[in-house]
Amino acid sequence: MVQTFFAPLLMGTNQGPLRNVRISLDEEGRVLSLNQSAPEPGDQICNGVVVPGWVNTHCHLELSHLQDAFPGEAMGMASFLQGMLRQRNVVDFAERENAMRQADAVLHAEGVVAVGDISNTNESLPVKRESDLIYHTFVEVLGLDSSRVDTLIQGARKLVGEFSALDGASASMAPHAPYSMSEALLQAVLDEASTQLCSSYHLMESEDELRFFGTTEGPLRTVFESAGLKVSAAVPHANQTPLQEFIRHWNSTRPIQFVHNVYVSEDGLKEAMANIPQSYWCMCPSANLFISGRLPDIPAFRRQGARITIGTDSLASNRKLSVVQELYLIQKAFPEIPFHELIDWATWNGACLLSRQQDIGRVEPGKKPGLVLLTGINVDEPVFIAETTAVRLG
Ligand SMILES: [Zn+2]
Repeated sequence: MVQTFFAPLLMGTNQGPLRNVRISLDEEGRVLSLNQSAPEPGDQICNGVVVPGWVNTHCHLELSHLQDAFPGEAMGMASFLQGMLRQRNVVDFAERENAMRQADAVLHAEGVVAVGDISNTNESLPVKRESDLIYHTFVEVLGLDSSRVDTLIQGARKLVGEFSALDGASASMAPHAPYSMSEALLQAVLDEASTQLCSSYHLMESEDELRFFGTTEGPLRTVFESAGLKVSAAVPHANQTPLQEFIRHWNSTRPIQFVHNVYVSEDGLKEAMANIPQSYWCMCPSANLFISGRLPDIPAFRRQGARITIGTDSLASNRKLSVVQELYLIQKAFPEIPFHELIDWATWNGACLLSRQQDIGRVEPGKKPGLVLLTGINVDEPVFIAETTAVRLG
């Protein structure tokens, strides 16, 4: 049955924002037509702003059982990782799976249509198999001990195979972060990822990370030693940033998403964009406030024309999984950013990262983008405010 929605304002179309528009969808949710006209009997009237379904490009379903386990409030990376090492598996698998299922349902209800999800194990397979969301799984690899590279790569290949075999899903390998990998492992993972759909890398998120990367000293060293990790294998990088190290090892035209970017400078960004054909820069402001207590220099990313995406990160470092909350935090910190750009970051850019732009990310005939209704928002001059909420339509 054809469903028609009437929206006073529709954002995220290929014609720009449209006012007073009727959106007709077929029974599968594919857009049949957009018509600017008065509502007709039988139309579902949307009192708010309608946008395409969200693409949340950075999440960790696997960590969903850790909601409210940590204090947050700029707790620092070392304390966060110490907590993770202690608590990651304190509850049994049934409870972990239940938390993942709930997180998936929350994402769905807010209007998320696709997720870039980091996985270290295959625990999220059953949830992803049954989900209505499109999942791209980034199989994450980490390890400071370079003698284990082959073993780690073989394990990750198996996981990529398992996740990509799910109906409608995709998967690729992703290096974890500059502080947790030997250069040999980073190169091996990037060799694999260089021919896959896209990859992802946690980058320059905290001061603890930068100190350990530069000197192998500081609070992260203490945490790693107490966990029995082979810290002696870590090598100091005195005269380069983690981003420069990455550039040396990346030789691919595939999309690569850098996540967090709290300490990326404008010069560093320029250098990266000149050397990396398809870079995406994921902002997770809630998680940044939770761990580092500060946000990336988002205006610098806009000045450089960086492709920005939006992630919620995990429930270990965020109180809730809400794309709207992330956009609100960005709007509050940087009120000059136009509303339509924020919408594009959370929809179209993510669709491009995941190579799904044929189907999602914009509301236009032939696509099946999902529709989201934003309420608690001024339709005449929309900006995200604390009261803004999102619900999936149909
Ligand atoms: Zn993350």
